[in-house]
Amino acid sequence: MYFTEEPDHVRLLRDTMHRFVERELPRERVREWDRVGEAPREVFEKLAETGVCGLTIDEAYGGVGKDLVSAIAVIEELARRGGAAAGPYIHCAFYGGLNIGENGSPTQKRELLPKLAQGKILVAYGLSEPDVGGDLASVQTKARMSKDGTSVSISGTKRWCTGARIADYIICLVNSDPDSQKYHNLSLILVPTSSEGIQVRDIEHSGLRYTRSTDVIFDEVNVPVENVLGGPSGWNQGWSMLAKDALDVEKLEIAAYALGNFSAAVDDAWLYAQERRQFGKPICAHQAVRHTLSEVKTNLQAARHMLYHAAWLANEQKPCSAEASMAKLFIGDIGLQSVLKCQQIMGAYGCSADFDMERYVREATLIPIVGGSSNMQKNNIAARLGLPSA
Ligand SMILES: Cc1cc2nc3c(=O)[nH]c(=O)nc-3n(C[C@H](O)[C@H](O)[C@H](O)COP(=O)(O)OP(=O)(O)OC[C@H]3O[C@@H](n4cnc5c(N)ncnc54)[C@H](O)[C@@H]3O)c2cc1C
Repeated sequence: MYFTEEPDHVRLLRDTMHRFVERELPRERVREWDRVGEAPREVFEKLAETGVCGLTIDEAYGGVGKDLVSAIAVIEELARRGGAAAGPYIHCAFYGGLNIGENGSPTQKRELLPKLAQGKILVAYGLSEPDVGGDLASVQTKARMSKDGTSVSISGTKRWCTGARIADYIICLVNSDPDSQKYHNLSLILVPTSSEGIQVRDIEHSGLRYTRSTDVIFDEVNVPVENVLGGPSGWNQGWSMLAKDALDVEKLEIAAYALGNFSAAVDDAWLYAQERRQFGKPICAHQAVRHTLSEVKTNLQAARHMLYHAAWLANEQKPCSAEASMAKLFIGDIGLQSVLKCQQIMGAYGCSADFDMERYVREATLIPIVGGSSNMQKNNIAARLGLPSA
């Protein structure tokens, strides 16, 4: 069975998000926020008032029940206007709500999920490091348990930690056991960003500028052992937590962001091609432009089907690792090619800071890199589909 028709409640939610975007994310203000690399927190607070942060959280913890298809649709709609609201939403509902709901200890769930459902807390992901990208299980940031087993000390550097400046917690992937084998020596720790010993340094980068991505330096940062994700029993269980559903859903949330960006680029090019006249007619009447627009619409349609099929599988708790990787790969690579074609349709204006197209392009170039590169998705697809590697 496949997810083919959008349920009514998702369609209604899209309408609500569309109105939110038009009201709270005007194009000119979004361009200015993107230029400085910051978005006002009040915008996210207004989004949280609509209740969408509860879409990844069970009712028992103040959410509206887990509905991944709806939550993915929220990201797509918001991302049509960049990361100003879509970014913090991911930090709250996905990095926070979904992760802690799946892997948190009973105390972590009781304390954090109700706040996440109301949009009161944001969480950043501290996985990558200066020398560690795709090979995440090789992280060098160390966590050592105190002799009495009550606290954990963390030292090392995380790189590309997006949102460290706006987040309340960083979920930090650490090497927690120097004597155990790779994959069995990792833990995820919920580190409050207010902890002593943390230094945050901004990185200048081209896309995903709703907040700065940062280096985060941990210098003997002490947290109670209860902050190990899953509680003390989560010690050295980090890889199994990361590699089960969390990484699949991370691909989907990035793919949803990419789809929103891709879809906005196609809409803008579609409209521009009808308004811009050259050689006595609208440029959409020139066959080459018509064909390009038909191609990007087709790619967009295929991308949408792939994303929502994978999201539906994830929501039904069916295996979706290959499908999530396929969606991330396709939307990343074909999305980038298509957005570049949209930019060409807009000619010089596609490169102007007065038009959103140049931002769509900057965002699209990052998608095949972040959250697992396209090559890593290909590796995953081949492995999940059982292709022998030797
Ligand atoms: C703006 C931005 C925001 C980010 N936000 C976050 C964040 O919030 N938290 C976080 O933890 N990280 C974040 N990242 C990091 C991002 O997830 C990594 O960039 C990504 O995982 C890829 O790692 P890398 O760039 O170090 O590339 P590498 O892993 O060094 O790879 C470099 C190249 O080699 C290829 N390659 C590597 N290994 C293989 C292999 N086995 N087979 C085939 N090809 C291979 C890759 O495909 C790529 O083309 C962010 C990055 C950016 C740019």
